[in-house]
Amino acid sequence: MKEHYTDSGMENAHCPVFKATRLERVAPRTFLLLLKEGINDPVLFNCTLCGACTQDTVTGIDIQKELKQARIRIVNEGKEIPEFKEYALAWKKTGNIYGVEE
Ligand code: SF4
Repeated sequence: MKEHYTDSGMENAHCPVFKATRLERVAPRTFLLLLKEGINDPVLFNCTLCGACTQDTVTGIDIQKELKQARIRIVNEGKEIPEFKEYALAWKKTGNIYGVEE
């Protein structure tokens, strides 16, 4: 898998997060490099999992699948974004992430 990673940044052109922020740290290229290096960084939660970067990609990487697996590792390591812990607790209690009783 790792041999298919690219540093061309072509995937960035399709990413709604990168288009909105213009921040390289939340661009597909960065996510791919983190995945390549096996770095389980909470920044990986910034991806919407929309899959747009897989169009015309030359990486051959299923970024959605890889990011979901990385997120599981991040949560298992207790490194998820603090707000996500609150969302999870609210979900368990009320069935929604807002903590609103139905
Ligand atoms: S799947 Fe994630 S990285 Fe790829 S285009 Fe969508 S938001 Fe960006």
